[in-house]
Amino acid sequence: MKRVLITGGAGFIGSHLCERLLNEGNDVICLDNYFTGSKKNIVHLLSHPYFELARHDVTQSYYAEVDEIYNLACPASPIHYQYNPIKTVKTSVMGAINMLGLAKRIRAKILQASTSEVYGDPAVHPQPESYWGNVNPIGKRSCYDEGKRCAETLFMDYHIQNKVRIKIARIFNTYGPNMHPNDGRVVSNFIVQALKNADISVYGDGNQTRSFQYVDDLVEGMIRMMDTPDAFTGPVNLGNTNEFRIIDLARLIIKMTGSNSKIIHEALPQNDPIQRKPDISLAQKELNGWSPEIELEDGLEKTIAYFRSIIK
Ligand code: NAD
Ligand code: UDP
Repeated sequence: MKRVLITGGAGFIGSHLCERLLNEGNDVICLDNYFTGSKKNIVHLLSHPYFELARHDVTQSYYAEVDEIYNLACPASPIHYQYNPIKTVKTSVMGAINMLGLAKRIRAKILQASTSEVYGDPAVHPQPESYWGNVNPIGKRSCYDEGKRCAETLFMDYHIQNKVRIKIARIFNTYGPNMHPNDGRVVSNFIVQALKNADISVYGDGNQTRSFQYVDDLVEGMIRMMDTPDAFTGPVNLGNTNEFRIIDLARLIIKMTGSNSKIIHEALPQNDPIQRKPDISLAQKELNGWSPEIELEDGLEKTIAYFRSIIK
């Protein structure tokens, strides 16, 4: 049995990770300040004897004896991370420093939930880990992008300077049950709008692309990444390589929900990347042949069922 700390454990991805690691017989501490996460996502785990909750903010130091730390604490959707950009930077940077300091002190292994946003609006397509990115340092998305880039720097420096065992996973657009219905991300927005027969808000002409990964595939990749030999630190891309135009996602969701919604076009947000698709050859090589297995329609079906169950 491993003792595992998951920061941001009450959020969308964190809640799936908590459940999976508990089911595999581990002792799990879920740390969260509930900014974007919710107890609803983990309430079904509360009676588990090896599950603990810690209401805590990662910008403050924290101490617990654990073997592994997954550092997920950070708002992930544009409307939430732009709500208080200074706090977003603090969460990424001070959170990384606090968790890396803890990992150093207790000799734990630590995995950082980094992001495809470190590539910004990429000039290289698909994006391999060797690409350094195209990021605006002073735009609306910068608090998130640069915060996450600085966190990667800190992870590498703690590894080189203090021999901390680190893992960096660059997560590409992920969706599934437990996403916040109002967090503004495209999959949750479109499903909620379609279920309410409301207009579907496509930003810009909808020709921008994303590659959508179902959360179970991501969780599998993160756990495999944590289990790689110490010499492998990453960064490693974790994402699905099937690329879709946003307008096609809107049409697919309307069809799958049987909705009467109409597509409308709204302004494209500042610095919205035009295209995004991971090169996952490194993950396939280093993570025991890991590859996303869940097709978009199958994942959307489970996600639509989840939103149907929570929307009145
Ligand atoms: P989420 O917003 O659902 O989860 C983030 C969690 O962190 C929430 O429970 C929130 O309450 C908590 N949190 C935020 N600030 C905190 C703080 N200062 N102290 C303690 N807890 C705090 O988002 P998610 O989609 O589950 O993302 C989880 C992680 O994965 C994030 O670090 C995000 O950057 C990364 N990521 C997600 C995606 C994606 O597509 N979902 C893509 C790339 C990277
Ligand atoms: N998007 C959209 N309508 C929405 C929400 C998002 O057209 O209601 C677009 C957004 O402009 C972007 C893509 O969908 O091009 C993915 O947006 P999301 O916020 O989910 O993730 P990110 O931009 O961080 O990849």
